[in-house]
Amino acid sequence: MVVGAGNAALCAALSAHEQGARVLVLEAAPREQRGGNSRFSGGIFRFAHDGLDHLRPLLTEEGARWADRVTVAPYEPQRFAADIDLVCQGRSDPELFSTLIETSYDTMAWMQGHGVRWELVVDKLFDPAKIPAGETYAVPPGGAVRATNEGIGLMYDLFNAVEQAGIEVRYDSPVQELLFEGSRCVGAKVRDAEGFTELRAGAVVLGSGGFESNPELRLRYLGEGWDLVKVRGTRFNMGHVLMNALASGAAPSGHWGGAHASPLDAHAPDVGELSLTDRMSRYSYPYCLLVDRDGKRFVDEGEDEVWLTYAKTGWAIRAQQGARAWQIFDQRTIHLLEPRYSTGIPVEADTLEDLAAKLGISADGLRATVDEFNAACGDDAGFDPFHKDGLRTAAPDQPVKSNWGQPVDHPPYVAYAVTCGITFTYGGLKIDRRARVQDTVGRPMGGLYATGEIAGGFFYHNYAAGSGLMRGATFGRIAGREAAGRALGRNADA
Ligand SMILES: Cc1cc2nc3c(=O)[nH]c(=O)nc-3n(C[C@H](O)[C@H](O)[C@H](O)COP(=O)(O)OP(=O)(O)OC[C@H]3O[C@@H](n4cnc5c(N)ncnc54)[C@H](O)[C@@H]3O)c2cc1C
Repeated sequence: MVVGAGNAALCAALSAHEQGARVLVLEAAPREQRGGNSRFSGGIFRFAHDGLDHLRPLLTEEGARWADRVTVAPYEPQRFAADIDLVCQGRSDPELFSTLIETSYDTMAWMQGHGVRWELVVDKLFDPAKIPAGETYAVPPGGAVRATNEGIGLMYDLFNAVEQAGIEVRYDSPVQELLFEGSRCVGAKVRDAEGFTELRAGAVVLGSGGFESNPELRLRYLGEGWDLVKVRGTRFNMGHVLMNALASGAAPSGHWGGAHASPLDAHAPDVGELSLTDRMSRYSYPYCLLVDRDGKRFVDEGEDEVWLTYAKTGWAIRAQQGARAWQIFDQRTIHLLEPRYSTGIPVEADTLEDLAAKLGISADGLRATVDEFNAACGDDAGFDPFHKDGLRTAAPDQPVKSNWGQPVDHPPYVAYAVTCGITFTYGGLKIDRRARVQDTVGRPMGGLYATGEIAGGFFYHNYAAGSGLMRGATFGRIAGREAAGRALGRNADA
């Protein structure tokens, strides 16, 4: 039995099936809304590789079409580990992360074998058509590959594989409670249209996401104000199975007060919509000044490459009055906006005062911020949007801007209103490297496995783009294999 039908769960289902198990998938959402957060995602996978030539065998022909316009540096396992160490402040479970990193390329190839089509990520951060002829664009090596058609394509391919394998997926079937006999998990109670049904299984894999869609749990674990934030993805990740597993003796793990939360268009719907998926994200902030209602900056917009900072920048925005902030660009950088800004509502003005009036923020504050920032900027000849360029600007009484710190002085000015959007929660169940759920005294809970967002111990404080899907796939594959072994009587210790 596999609970949930996102990326993590379907990888588990496919893996268990290839081991010879008969698999049932239980999904809370109706069929039309299936696919969880994974379907909303950008489909980017972070994995260790040796550079572009090593990526090529994974890519479809179409997916490699920009290969001569880009460079992709090797992304060594040590660099992957160092990035995670940096963003998660050294707290991630080393055993789980080394498993993830060591098997990441192989898992990508395994998914390809199940029909997932991979392509280079070229048009996400920049419009490739705007790269001058003869120049190449350095794709961040940790996020160089994604599923064709992003999360939509990923889940299309995975559901296709599941259907071809003859695996049954039951929709509108939220699991309410796990069933135990002695210390072993033997199935689940499902809440369907008729009421509750108990279903038995030889082993159970939990892949039912975190608690990001549930305002009551967000308030409880993340704190004041988090009940009101916008949700970037699915509305079905309510955390009920997670809570029930804890109540049944599973150990909590990871950063329960933490979550991935990023800059989102202020006009985005309160909960993700499949017609928009992740096109309301606003990640070109390294090239802007990000200001609050008083016109003041409050973060280092250029601390690092965007994929290592965006998941905590939502936190900084949420802490501002009304959980609202404004990204202020000028004509030096406006061409660098991610193509998905086209879903936003730009506000434009020739002067900062007019811009502030249109935005309803302090004109004096914005003027002072920009003037002081511009005065502190040095020679910007080395401005390089594709790399950390070291253009550090330290204006008095403002946060430092560590990179891309050039003046904002070429009107018309263009602003986008942003808020905080929660993506997923970090706290979850404690698992070991075989994806076995651990109880509170450190024993594996017989027959119970977990993967994806519902598993904790991976992310703390912050996050590196593309690691969520990779984590789910890696441990989904492992969980499916282990659970099948258990159900078929091959490994009694699980
Ligand atoms: C807009 C957006 C963009 C993102 N982009 C990326 C990206 O490019 N790369 C990346 O790595 N990560 C990305 N992420 C994060 C990533 O999508 C998630 O971390 C990942 O998809 C989680 O996979 P999962 O299978 O654990 O959960 P999900 O895909 O959310 O699947 C969980 C499933 O469980 C079901 N479920 C919930 N409760 C129950 C229940 N009680 N019973 C039965 N079923 C239940 C849900 O309906 C859902 O289908 C993004 C997320 C969002 C929202």
